Amino acid sequence: MDNAIELQPGFIHATLVPILYLVSAVTFIYGIKGLTRVRTARRGNMWGAIAMLLAVVATLIDMGVVDYRWILIGLAVGSAIGAFAAFKVAMTEMPEMVALFNGAGGGASMLVAISFLWLHVIEEPSSVGHTVAFALQTDSAVSTVFGILIGAVTLSGSVVAYLKLQGKISGQPILLPGRHVVNLLLFFGSLGVGAWFVFFTTDHFSIGVAALVVTVLATILGIMLVIPIGGADMPVVISLLNSYSGLAASATGFVLNNNVLIISGALVGASGLILTHIMCVAMNRTLANVLFGGFGMVEQTASGPASDYGTVRSYSAEEAAMVLEAAQSVVFVPGYGLAVAQAQHVVRELADLLESRGATVAYGIHPVAGRMPGHMNVLLAEADVPYEQLLEMDDVNPRFKETDVVIIVGANDVVNPAAEKEPGSPIAGMPVLKVWEAHTTMVIKRSLSPGFAGIKNELFEYDNNIMIFGDAKEVLQGLVSELKQAAAA
Ligand code: NAP
Repeated sequence: MDNAIELQPGFIHATLVPILYLVSAVTFIYGIKGLTRVRTARRGNMWGAIAMLLAVVATLIDMGVVDYRWILIGLAVGSAIGAFAAFKVAMTEMPEMVALFNGAGGGASMLVAISFLWLHVIEEPSSVGHTVAFALQTDSAVSTVFGILIGAVTLSGSVVAYLKLQGKISGQPILLPGRHVVNLLLFFGSLGVGAWFVFFTTDHFSIGVAALVVTVLATILGIMLVIPIGGADMPVVISLLNSYSGLAASATGFVLNNNVLIISGALVGASGLILTHIMCVAMNRTLANVLFGGFGMVEQTASGPASDYGTVRSYSAEEAAMVLEAAQSVVFVPGYGLAVAQAQHVVRELADLLESRGATVAYGIHPVAGRMPGHMNVLLAEADVPYEQLLEMDDVNPRFKETDVVIIVGANDVVNPAAEKEPGSPIAGMPVLKVWEAHTTMVIKRSLSPGFAGIKNELFEYDNNIMIFGDAKEVLQGLVSELKQAAAA
């Protein structure tokens, strides 16, 4: 091989590969640490990509594939797919993309576990007459079952989550009668069949059939677990599936005896679980509520159907600008509509203008505003909004009482008072931004349509609220030009 690098096999397996894996694992951890802060998130992402590259190169070297052309071809193909996805997918479609990536991770782990079983047991003549536990050693055999089980659950669950988010199937919870019993049967059934084929079967046909049965049962379980979840609980499920994909990768790491896969899988599994916990707290749900409760379901609430409004006050940009001229303190509350309208740069322009007139400006960031964790932070960072002006919910809520105007840009559920005031509401108990405590609230959105949770928002009828109907970017541009004209007059 002309393009191959000549290395001594002993040195490669005993020294080079373990060192590369160790460096890769440490780089993954460093990358994840970077992701914990907005300021260092981009760098963290880059370190994660470098760690992945190191892991891939080490694996190719370990397998004896050291022809650098494969590494270059892999780099080019992977980068092209990644770059295409990053440019093509709109920011608002990120959760769907994350769901697909999770599914791909779970599916890959499942396929690796199945092919390992195939190569080392079903097609291996020396394993005839032995149990899988004997042929593969017990830990590897058990990990193979878990790799198939968790991988299949992650794959089918993520596909259902993707279809729900895309609107191809109803985003509302679908509650099948007796689902808990069915799920328990599926779970213990797949574990039981897995245990049977690992410890008791010795003929290859039964092993193959049993592996297929585990795959099918786990696939149905994945669908059954995600189908009853909907509405505002979807982000929690996406992050939980993310954690599952890490656990599946970790199980595959045990199957392949690959340390970096065990470590990186465990990192994804643990960070996914931590994010799931943070999101459950942000939405005042326990994980059990999310998984078994069908809580995202839209019910008829005390405040009536989502389209039924009494009197709402609607202002033009000119009238609203007059209110803003007198404001000494302004808080912007961005939501999903800001992302749709791509209005982050105009928000910044309006904020600068208000500051130049002597007003204090801050941004109230709800943890689940938008359609993915950190959505608003990413958008506002794009417009170079100073980090210190971004206030988390617990910090901004006490400030609303002293705020003159809160400008709510394309947010709806995260400022809905029903969460606090209506025990029967689907979002009851979800911590929200208490914007109504401010002197005046201005809601910028195109209509009185509901947000993600599909429910009415009584804030729109409050006496201290003003609706400014229109696309967020156009309305904000209107406010900017009105304020500029007022300053010039
Ligand atoms: P929201 O409740 O979904 O409301 C967004 C509002 O934006 C809509 O009512 C819509 O009203 C308005 N809008 C859309 N396009 C607009 C445009 N071009 N200009 C102006 N307004 C526009 O959003 P949110 O308050 O940010 O709450 C997020 C919701 O999504 C929560 O229920 C959360 O649980 C859920 N969720 C969050 C995540 C996450 O991880 N962050 C993931 C999935 C789901 P009009 O149509 O009338 O304009």
